[in-house]
Amino acid sequence: MRILLKLSGEALAGDKKTGFDEPTVRKVALQVKEILQSGTQVGIVIGGGNFWRGRTSESIDRVKADQIGMLATIMNCIYVSEIFRSEGMNTAILTPFECGSFTKLFSKDRAQKYFSKNMVVFFAGGTGHPYFSTDTGVVLRAVEVEADMILLAKAIDGVYDSDPAVNPDAKRYDKISIDDVVAQNLQVVDMTASILARDNHMPMRVFALQEEGSIVKAVSGTFNGTTVEA
Ligand code: UDP
Repeated sequence: MRILLKLSGEALAGDKKTGFDEPTVRKVALQVKEILQSGTQVGIVIGGGNFWRGRTSESIDRVKADQIGMLATIMNCIYVSEIFRSEGMNTAILTPFECGSFTKLFSKDRAQKYFSKNMVVFFAGGTGHPYFSTDTGVVLRAVEVEADMILLAKAIDGVYDSDPAVNPDAKRYDKISIDDVVAQNLQVVDMTASILARDNHMPMRVFALQEEGSIVKAVSGTFNGTTVEA
């Protein structure tokens, strides 16, 4: 089995909300190690929100703001990759554009080669294009490398029919189809990413990163969260 795990940039920051929180990342590393040892291949996509968001920048050109955002995701991957290495895993970082010797250029063949060597493959730099997000990046890479599913580790423990922070009666779905996610405009991933997942039948599991062992449980299928069927 091959899974792609999406972590938001904010998740790396823990309570600090910005930069990196090493204990949080180390907990992720230990879980990924356990998953690898069970024979599952793991790819990782990380957002950039702990440093920068293109769409919230008002004073500079959007394309340039998005370039900064994509670079932020690469910094995040370099950091997390190093923590993973310190826990004894082998890792590689692939980007959609050349970053000198910092990363390797993404290709499907290269990703397959690393997966087959049991390395954790980081897909950094998003799609390489402005006006996209790492949500779209993770779905795109999952489809390209023929992953079995995407794991979305979030601040919230699943997909709700309305925002539980606003509506105390919000109901969480155990299971929902990607068609319903699109039809109801639910914020699992952004709409571009939802449609890509729908059209390419890429299932997702959504759960809270903060819950103990949640990534391992999500891989097993018995987890506290929502399955998005595609
Ligand atoms: N980004 C981009 N293209 C991509 C992926 C990311 O331009 O394919 C930029 C964009 O500016 C985004 C930032 O990188 O705001 C961080 O990515 P993330 O997906 O975390 O963004 P968010 O959805 O949180 O804004």
